[in-house]
Amino acid sequence: MIEQTLVLIKPDGLKKSLTGNILTRLSETKLEIAGAKIVKVTKTLAASHYAHMKDKPFFPELIKYLTGELHNRKKVMALVYHGNNAIKLVRKICGSTNPEKASPTTIRGSYGRITTKGLFENIIHASSSRKDAEREIKLWFTPGELIYKIYPVIKTKKQTEFLRWK
Ligand code: ADP
Repeated sequence: MIEQTLVLIKPDGLKKSLTGNILTRLSETKLEIAGAKIVKVTKTLAASHYAHMKDKPFFPELIKYLTGELHNRKKVMALVYHGNNAIKLVRKICGSTNPEKASPTTIRGSYGRITTKGLFENIIHASSSRKDAEREIKLWFTPGELIYKIYPVIKTKKQTEFLRWK
C-alpha cells in the first residue's frame, strides 16, 4: 500500500554530522523523498508534535531536545518519504525507541544514546502509523512543499508565502 511517513533528523543528528549517513541508510528502502527542508523548531511546534507525551516526566526535556536547546543546534531536517509500505520500512531502519534496545545495525542502535537525565536521544523520528503520519505531515509541511497532493487541499485567497524574493 502506498503510504507517506514523516522523518525528522533531530538536532543531535545534525550536530553529529550524521545527515548523509542517515539519508544513505534510508535510501535502502527505495522510497521516494516527497518533501524536505530544514526547520527551526519552536516550542509550540515541538509540543504539538509530541502532544501524546505531555504527561511523561521527561516531556520538558523532550521539548528542549527537539527545539535544539539541548545541543545548541536549533534545527531539524524534516522529510516526507513516499512509497509502498513506507511507514514500516522506515521504522525498521530506525530501530527501537530506546537506543540501547535498538538493534546495533539500525540508525538508533548505531548513533543513539541515553542522557544522564534518562532521555532517549535517538537521532531520528519516524511516524508510527498512517494516522500519525497524516497528523505529523500536516503539522510540518504545507501542501505546496510536497511534490504530491497527498491529502485533500483547499484553495485560500492568500496563495503565496508571506515572504518573496525581491
Ligand atoms: P518513537 O519516537 O519511537 O515514536 P515515542 O513517540 O513513544 O517513540 O517517544 C517520543 C520520543 O520521546 C522518543 O523518540 C524519545 O526521544 C523519547 N522517549 C520515549 N520514551 C522514552 C523513555 N521511556 N525515556 C526517555 N525518553 C523517551
